[in-house]
Amino acid sequence: MNNAVYDFHVPENEPVKGYLKNSPERTLLDAELKRQNAKKIEIPLIIGGKEYRTGDTGEIRAPHDHNKILAVYHKADKKSVKQAVEAAVKANKEWADLAWTVRASILLKAAELISTKYRQIMNASTMLGQSKNIFQSEIDAVCETIDFLKFNAYFAGRIYRIQPGSTFNQLNRMEFRPLEGFVLTVSPFNFTSIAANLNAAPVMMGNATVWKPATASLLSNYYLMRIFREAGVPDGVINFVPGQGSVVGNAALASKDLAGIHFTGSNPTFNGLWKNVADNLTTYSSYPRLVGETGGKDFIFVHPSADPYDVAVNAIKGAFEYQGQKCSAASRMYIPKSLHKKIRSYMIDMAESIKMGEVTDHTNFMNAVIDRNSFDNIVSYIEYAKGSPDAKIISGGTYDSSKGYFIRPTIVEAEDPKFRLMEEEIFGPVLTYYVYDDNKMDEALALCDSTSPYGLTGAIFSKDRVAASEMCNRLRYAAGNFYINDKPTGAVVGLQPFGGSRASGTNDKAGGEFNLLRWISPRTIKETFVAPDDYRYPYMTEK
Ligand code: NAD
Repeated sequence: MNNAVYDFHVPENEPVKGYLKNSPERTLLDAELKRQNAKKIEIPLIIGGKEYRTGDTGEIRAPHDHNKILAVYHKADKKSVKQAVEAAVKANKEWADLAWTVRASILLKAAELISTKYRQIMNASTMLGQSKNIFQSEIDAVCETIDFLKFNAYFAGRIYRIQPGSTFNQLNRMEFRPLEGFVLTVSPFNFTSIAANLNAAPVMMGNATVWKPATASLLSNYYLMRIFREAGVPDGVINFVPGQGSVVGNAALASKDLAGIHFTGSNPTFNGLWKNVADNLTTYSSYPRLVGETGGKDFIFVHPSADPYDVAVNAIKGAFEYQGQKCSAASRMYIPKSLHKKIRSYMIDMAESIKMGEVTDHTNFMNAVIDRNSFDNIVSYIEYAKGSPDAKIISGGTYDSSKGYFIRPTIVEAEDPKFRLMEEEIFGPVLTYYVYDDNKMDEALALCDSTSPYGLTGAIFSKDRVAASEMCNRLRYAAGNFYINDKPTGAVVGLQPFGGSRASGTNDKAGGEFNLLRWISPRTIKETFVAPDDYRYPYMTEK
């Protein structure tokens, strides 16, 4: 019997390893990269703990070397999605009844496995499949994944402590029921850790999931699924169903048992899912919880008091790390005329010195963009800028897809603050800036606030602390993660809870209690010790 009231300590964030030449971690990583590069694996569906092969297959290719096939995967059909839903609904009951500390221990074991035995498997699969360099992979597939798993256990404990008051003759309590049914989790290609958390958060709170991973991240996501199983996640609690988004989405959303959607990806996909839910609303047993983190058009706003070199370093890192494929990547900038020349010159020097190529060459700062569609889409924006009288490319603007999907870091100066590249999410290595008049800062702040429909991340640079505070107020709704004198990327679990509003999502702040609260439906239980012996109230008597 375990009747202890348990508190997990505030976890320490997983330390980021250095991977210096000849370090033990680098040697292990290089061996694992070699091993994974030399083989082609088969990825099945995993439903109710069993592997399924539908025979309808697709290929996973390395973005930096598209002739290289890393895996062949089986695509889910309508029938397999239905099976996955049934498996999740069945598994939900037992999983929900399990002591929450046991659920936590299973997820913490997954964290430990990733930190030790599977660290380099997670890194190599993320590097090869999603074209990340070692640092980008280590902070994502290893450190952030571990942090999510650990902080979820800690925050769940804090939630379970919340109880109502009781008076002398009654006892009140709250029971934190998981949602009734299953949670559909839909993950994006760009962060292995997000795929982990989209499942781990509802699972921590006692739910079972049907997981639709992004095709481009299937290699790492499949290893992750296997780690969850090795850690002890029971059959059916997480069901892995790769395939075409609409096939999985439509079949899952047709089920009356849909209790929630945990989504990260683009704004149009989330809008489509939301509309589909609305159309099916009378089908469902409960109102499904819709939690979605979507796109961004993240900004850097420079005050005339800022240090031009600091601004340039942070803009380059914020815009071009992982090829600008972070939802938080800096993609538009507002620069005062007085600092323009200096910032421009620093940025050009830095952008032109960036080394780009294969993930196995650890001297590369940038690698390839994820796939052909993405490459074509980013190139179309670059070409649009080249052909427009309202903009000029000041660095980069070249690309080559002969071996892999490589695009040089591109910086665009826009004459029109509403230029298309200042407004739309591009999700690639393109940074566009607008130069404002130093004495029209108010106007520039209004532009920054209103130019894009998104509200995810944003950064201001200023040595004047009072001005920074005013800018912070003016841009209150422009970003859910706001940075002062720092790049707008790189949020750390437990330190900067992440998410934005407006068209950027429901802002449920992944990795904290706000998100976990969405996966429970509390029941309040009142028990009266002595029941009344008369239905009438005393004041009703005549005498
Ligand atoms: P995407 O919208 O193309 O795909 C996301 C997932 O949705 C994939 O698994 C895809 O297969 C699936 N999908 C597509 N159509 C579907 C349907 N009809 N039903 C069910 N699933 C469907 O996004 P992506 O290209 O993988 O990721 C990039 C996007 O994600 C960018 O817009 C980025 O800003 C956003 N993102 C946001 C955050 C955040 O925290 N706000 C984090 C990472 C990525």
